[in-house]
Amino acid sequence: MHSTFALNPQTEAFLARPQKMLIGEQWLTARDGSTLTLRNPATGQPLAEVPAASHEDVDLAVAVARQAFEDSAWSRMRPRERQNLLWRLADLLERDAQILAQLECLNNGKSAAVAQVMDVQLSIDFLRYMAGWATKIQGSTVDPSLPLMPEGDFHAFVRREAVGVVGAIVAWNFPLLLACWKLGPALATGCTVVLKPADETPLSALKLAELVLEAGYPAGVFNVVTGTGAVAGAALSRHPDVDKLTFTGSTEVGKMIGKAAMDSMTRVTLELGGKSPTIVMGDADLKQAAAGAASAIFFNQGQVCCAGSRLYVQRKHFDNVVGDIVDIANGMKLGSGMDPSVAMGPLISARQQERVYSYIERGRELGATVACGGEMFGPGYFVKPTVLTGVSQHGPLVQEEIFGPVLVAVPFDDIEDAVRLANDNRYGLGASIWSNDLAAVHRMIPRIKSGSVWVNCHSALDPSLPFGGYKMSGLGREMGAAAIEHYTELKSVLIKV
Ligand code: NAD
Repeated sequence: MHSTFALNPQTEAFLARPQKMLIGEQWLTARDGSTLTLRNPATGQPLAEVPAASHEDVDLAVAVARQAFEDSAWSRMRPRERQNLLWRLADLLERDAQILAQLECLNNGKSAAVAQVMDVQLSIDFLRYMAGWATKIQGSTVDPSLPLMPEGDFHAFVRREAVGVVGAIVAWNFPLLLACWKLGPALATGCTVVLKPADETPLSALKLAELVLEAGYPAGVFNVVTGTGAVAGAALSRHPDVDKLTFTGSTEVGKMIGKAAMDSMTRVTLELGGKSPTIVMGDADLKQAAAGAASAIFFNQGQVCCAGSRLYVQRKHFDNVVGDIVDIANGMKLGSGMDPSVAMGPLISARQQERVYSYIERGRELGATVACGGEMFGPGYFVKPTVLTGVSQHGPLVQEEIFGPVLVAVPFDDIEDAVRLANDNRYGLGASIWSNDLAAVHRMIPRIKSGSVWVNCHSALDPSLPFGGYKMSGLGREMGAAAIEHYTELKSVLIKV
């Protein structure tokens, strides 16, 4: 038994079986027999063993994905059929939503109840949104001038074509959702995919692979290689037969992947780290802003790329707003994500727990005030929701991504100050402004250097809105029409008639 709360029998059965990765239509162990041990972050106890793919396993998966891409069953499939398959896949996720949510909970530590209504539901919505795009991929026609070819009639058009074999590498914080953000546009446009889930969280990807087969996709269209970033991830990112890499993870690894992609001119999209500001103006509904700021940092244990991890509050309301956030943090129950009454689960791993805690210690050494939290405990990888004040804007706590439930709070004086502080960071993924002064908000929006700006909400993502980063937060966008562009190539055709 993995917790004191009831598991769906199908989740139990999934966990009880030997885990294998999907290559083509075969479920395989790693060729050299290597495995990775997964742990339940709420207990630290072993949860499952998965294959640790080697370079050769990745080679096989890419070869199978290449064959499926060239194979007429998939490449000649009509858009309507690709649309229907994506709908069918979304339906299967809906059917197995509880199982998927429980796997996310046991493997990642997040709340199963929240995962079902957030991670799984957002994945379903996203796949359905992308299903709609399958029938709306368009090129254009052009009247060419051709000054060097004055004679003759010409017909010119631009085709938008699937980019090919996609290598997708994702992080552990939203394992299923991040995989679906890659899978949706790839399958809508007619690409094939090799997915490398995070070392720590491959279980929902393996369940997803099962559902892809059940939906009726041709073999090889979707493949999953489990294993480490250093071996399987590196092999996929350097593979010469991958046409596009799409990566979600840290800026450090993203830079390595970007460089590897350039060597072979592989197309690349990078969704990287963040240190997103939450800006509370004096005219805001301050209670609502405090609740929003708390949720912006504490949701998913702060392990959210666009978490509102830097709080800026107009000076005269600083103590009041920070006090409300501290009250919310102190009222949060910590425990296993299988308990629906729990507000905060464990972090993903002992390593992440140590890392996050070391930032809190660093804050103490630098003279910060720990307004709440500031402790870690076990068994399991828990860190209490923490708010630090008295931190320097230029110090590591404000400048670096901590990726845990740690909020740093800094006062500001006026709009100029708020914009300057918000932009004073190497990342640029998201930002929220809490205010009821429409004119001031509209003056601020164009000046904020981030891929998303939310007003009176935070981390509110929608399939129709492109998501991605300015600056060190990445390259390219996921979701919306932008995603389709990133999974297609343009081909110009000129016909002399
Ligand atoms: P990470 O970069 O360590 O790992 C991400 C993935 O890359 C994993 O699958 C890992 O196995 C793989 N990887 C690691 N080393 C590799 C290598 N040398 N070559 C190829 N692949 C390799 O990141 P993480 O710790 O799993 O995730 C946390 C980070 O992800 C945070 O920085 C967070 O902000 C970021 N993130 C960004 C977004 C976004 O949309 N911008 C979303 C979620 C998470």
